[in-house]
Amino acid sequence: MLRSTLLKLSEHKGLAHWVTTNGTTRRMSHRFVAGETLDEAVAAARACNDAGMAVSLDCLGENVSTIADAQKARDTYLGIYDRIAQEKLNANVSCKLSQLGLDLSVEFCEGLVMSIAERAAASANFLRIDMEGSVYTQRTVELVKRVRAQTPAVGTVIQSYLYRSENDIHDLLSYGCRVRLCKGAYQEPTDIAFQSKADVDGNFVRLMRVLLPSGFYHGIATHDPRMIAETIRWAAEKRISKDDFEFQMLYGIRADLQRRLVRDGFHLRIYVPFGMEWFPYFMRRLAERPANVGFFVRNFLRG
Ligand SMILES: Cc1cc2nc3c(=O)[nH]c(=O)nc-3n(C[C@H](O)[C@H](O)[C@H](O)COP(=O)(O)OP(=O)(O)OC[C@H]3O[C@@H](n4cnc5c(N)ncnc54)[C@H](O)[C@@H]3O)c2cc1C
Repeated sequence: MLRSTLLKLSEHKGLAHWVTTNGTTRRMSHRFVAGETLDEAVAAARACNDAGMAVSLDCLGENVSTIADAQKARDTYLGIYDRIAQEKLNANVSCKLSQLGLDLSVEFCEGLVMSIAERAAASANFLRIDMEGSVYTQRTVELVKRVRAQTPAVGTVIQSYLYRSENDIHDLLSYGCRVRLCKGAYQEPTDIAFQSKADVDGNFVRLMRVLLPSGFYHGIATHDPRMIAETIRWAAEKRISKDDFEFQMLYGIRADLQRRLVRDGFHLRIYVPFGMEWFPYFMRRLAERPANVGFFVRNFLRG
């Protein structure tokens, strides 16, 4: 109930404006967001690299409504690759198609993605296309396959809560596509998505077992100790090397687990979001863990 309310509120423009301009809530966002500027994100990425973790930088934003805003997002991403190279960071880039104009036109969006993926390829880097709500799934998979047919520098994300995900994984693997596997962060109806944690987790394990032996370098993105333990156990059983996949976690979540994975010699990438448009991302993080809400309300009341 609380989760679905928070996810609905994450789309509320008026609330977004109030929360992102309020000093207290802006400070609180730093729990999950590296900052509002690329400089702050670079500092966070540097700290991750120094602790033995790779990074994926995401300039937050979604559902742009003008061509100019989508082009501005494209330019920001091109600049991030330049900065990664200048700073010699161990980092790639994640972005959302609705930030690159998918709501305006698939062809237009694809052109922007292609130019970002080409820049990624030119700097021996990588572009990860995040997966958004299910209204975008088909278009995202199709677009990523077309771009992947042109360059190996692009990959995407599959969510274990969707029934369709196993088919999508086989489809993407037939294009040699690298996949980030996660559980899924949006509110989806029962006719297309598992609702119980046990079912989502069960599918996560099934999909992990399809991805890991596929011969491509995938990301297992979770903070769930049971999913992580099962991945480690199964990879060892199948003699899949630690170098053949990476774990991924979000900035600010389960730092204890992050350190433990690095100590145990696993590759770990931290998703480092930054930018002014942090409200929907922040609300999804609150929705994932009801205990976060109490923590934020107490901090807000303290000012
Ligand atoms: C690198 C990365 C990229 C992602 N990209 C996408 C994407 O493109 N599309 C998409 O739909 N989703 C994405 N997600 C979010 C994902 O789908 C889940 O919503 C999120 O990771 C929580 O699921 P979990 O696997 O951690 O398991 P859960 O069962 O939700 O949580 C397991 C444990 O992790 C900890 N935890 C989880 N979330 C939080 C939180 N917000 N605050 C504090 N502790 C928490 C708690 O200890 C919890 O008990 C991504 C996640 C990661 C790690």
